[in-house]
Amino acid sequence: MNDLTELSLQRAIHGLRQGDFSCRELVEAHLDRIQRLDIDLNAYLFIDGEGALKRAEIADRQLAEWRKSRQSEPPPLLGIPIAVKDILCVKGMPCTCGSKILEGFVPPYDATTVEKLLNAGVIILGKTNTDEFAMGSSTENSAYGVTRNPWNRERVPGGSSGGSAAAVAARLALAALGTDTGGSVRQPASFCGVSGIKPTYGRVSRYGLVAYGSSLDVVGAFGRDVQDVAIIFEQIAGADRRDATTVDLPVPPIQLGQNTDLDSLRIGVPKEYFIPGMQPEVEQAIRQAILHLQELGAVVEEISLPHTEYALPVYYLIAPAEASANLARYDGIRYGQRISAETMWDIFYRTRGKKFGAEVKRRIMLGTYALSAGYYDAYYGKAQKVRTLIKQDFERAFQRVDVIAAPVAPTTAFPFGEHTDDPLAMYLEDVFTLPANLAGVPALAFPVGFDREGLPIGLQLMGNYFQEELLFRIAHAYQLTTDWHLRSPMST
Ligand code: GLN
Repeated sequence: MNDLTELSLQRAIHGLRQGDFSCRELVEAHLDRIQRLDIDLNAYLFIDGEGALKRAEIADRQLAEWRKSRQSEPPPLLGIPIAVKDILCVKGMPCTCGSKILEGFVPPYDATTVEKLLNAGVIILGKTNTDEFAMGSSTENSAYGVTRNPWNRERVPGGSSGGSAAAVAARLALAALGTDTGGSVRQPASFCGVSGIKPTYGRVSRYGLVAYGSSLDVVGAFGRDVQDVAIIFEQIAGADRRDATTVDLPVPPIQLGQNTDLDSLRIGVPKEYFIPGMQPEVEQAIRQAILHLQELGAVVEEISLPHTEYALPVYYLIAPAEASANLARYDGIRYGQRISAETMWDIFYRTRGKKFGAEVKRRIMLGTYALSAGYYDAYYGKAQKVRTLIKQDFERAFQRVDVIAAPVAPTTAFPFGEHTDDPLAMYLEDVFTLPANLAGVPALAFPVGFDREGLPIGLQLMGNYFQEELLFRIAHAYQLTTDWHLRSPMST
């Protein structure tokens, strides 16, 4: 094998067990590539080369012993190098959340998702760039510089998990963790031509995920294809007593075979997801992909999710409201940075005033306003009611269809700066991803084409609660019969 960074997860696992290459070689190949390409891409905020190589040696020893004895199976992901969004705690690695306020903060514990993956044997190469506190759709809100899209360096990678998506697309990690509060896994996956899952709310523990909008936040995964995403998902899913919102349901092993027959599965296409102003090539690619699913045996029908248009205002009230409460803890006393002053209040004012970025401040103000006495019922209370209507749209739809197919975003990756002066234009990038978060349903994004400029286009499949496996099966059938997911953005 000449380029170890081109392997799928399954191939890498197999190759390591066979002894076709060592874990050290696999990790070195990724570190070399990071060194060559990441100066430009800026997908990583922190790289733990030394730690990764140490772990690789241990993994190699474990693998060699297993090869000799063939006794108990090694951990399922032993020796697999991955990246983690810098909003999840990894013990001993800095966690900035893309913010100056957390500069220097090193968590003393692992997020549950991280702990589960480490127990499964992964090697964490480093932490990836994000919009500050995951607030954004382009990674331009990071306090540590933008991440570039590997398909076109003048374009954003999407956000907020832009670093993770770019790292997987550019082969700087075999897979990565991200988080999705309003689209932050699916939209960057779509912009970078990789696959990504936003699991059902409550399916994956949020313990150790730095909170943004707690009723919406969920940890998800990126991979080259949906099979790789499913492998990671299977490891991170499940109840956790440290997150009371997780649901104690079994996580069925996800077995994606070679079957491409969609066998009369009912796919709904919501008419509200095709809007004037969306890029025509996106609509074409989505319609083409849906046709393909029909050719594989699915039965496609148009459906309606009538409250879709309210998702944007509802989300941009609820998410900032929750954020304003969650971000109150960054006071210059307990974590990260402090600007000293005479009084406690001045420490708060100065630290928060200087160390939070503009978008974070905007959200804190919006959220505080929406929650304030006198406005609570009109804004936050009303938004919660409409959220219920959006949820009911999905419940009604899933009585008729098994899954819903729709675009991930109205456009492909946009140029840097295009929306930075106009927050509303940036928020509009999220119109198609917000509803799944508000309803809490799972959604999977994967590439289904490219626009004229060679930028990837993503489809999302939304499913009923806890039906991730069905989404993986459909997308896998699609990927077995198409090759969009095999394209790579860089030849070097
Ligand atoms: N773009 C949305 C926001 O800015 C979603 C971000 C996310 O999912 N973390 O809030």
